[in-house]
Amino acid sequence: MDLENVGATSLFLEGDAPPVLEDNTTGRSPFLLTCDHYGRAIPRLLGDLGLPASELTRHIAWDPGIAGVADALSKHLDAHLIAQRYSRLVIDCNRPPGAPSSIPRISEATVIPGNEGLARDATEARREAIFDPYHRRIAEVIDRRLHAGTATVLVSLHSFTPVYAGIARPWHIGTLYHRDTRLPPLLLKLLRAEADLVVGDNEPYAVSDETDYTIPVHAEARGLMNTGIEIRQDLIADPAGQRQWADRLARVFGEAETTLRAQRLLPG
Ligand SMILES: [Zn+2]
Repeated sequence: MDLENVGATSLFLEGDAPPVLEDNTTGRSPFLLTCDHYGRAIPRLLGDLGLPASELTRHIAWDPGIAGVADALSKHLDAHLIAQRYSRLVIDCNRPPGAPSSIPRISEATVIPGNEGLARDATEARREAIFDPYHRRIAEVIDRRLHAGTATVLVSLHSFTPVYAGIARPWHIGTLYHRDTRLPPLLLKLLRAEADLVVGDNEPYAVSDETDYTIPVHAEARGLMNTGIEIRQDLIADPAGQRQWADRLARVFGEAETTLRAQRLLPG
């Protein structure tokens, strides 16, 4: 390693994957898909953060199942996907930097030894190597689209654990939102028309400036229509489930697009 260059690149060694994963960058859909918790990679320099493999594969490390849904949905909708390869335990790309949950010392009931007592340099290195390039890329893509007059609706894809802190969650899917009053009610209506679904309205989470980053910063602050989507992880645990949910969401978002065009909320 080049010891004179102890900045962002100091976190990565040869063989570490780049943080940002993109698919369908020329996709024609108005929906721009983001996936903050797509991957669970850890820079080699950080080892296993002091955790056993059993912790590094469960929901505290990433959003299980959502990568398969995001990949397939991007293809079905012909939508640009921007995703993060690194684990939320290294730095959570949907938390404001500096918030206690940004680099969590404890997640659910698990203490993260590798996140204890981090010096400011170490915190900054994670931000510069992982968080910043991801959000810079989302901002660039939105800039480019708006400059070109391309309609842009941000959809932030997540999955949630069926049981959290001992409490079972009944919803199959939830829409998450805060300031956008255009897309979320339409999406709720379309999802509730699916007879077999229990749909959460800002459940199991709601979007807020304190607990989120991607929607407030990239969509709300720029006046873009947006929604978060949370799918229960047991429904997308295998490729068949991921395909089914991507098929269903492609249909539902297709209907939403048609309605938004009819309402002149998207260019006809
Ligand atoms: Zn998530």
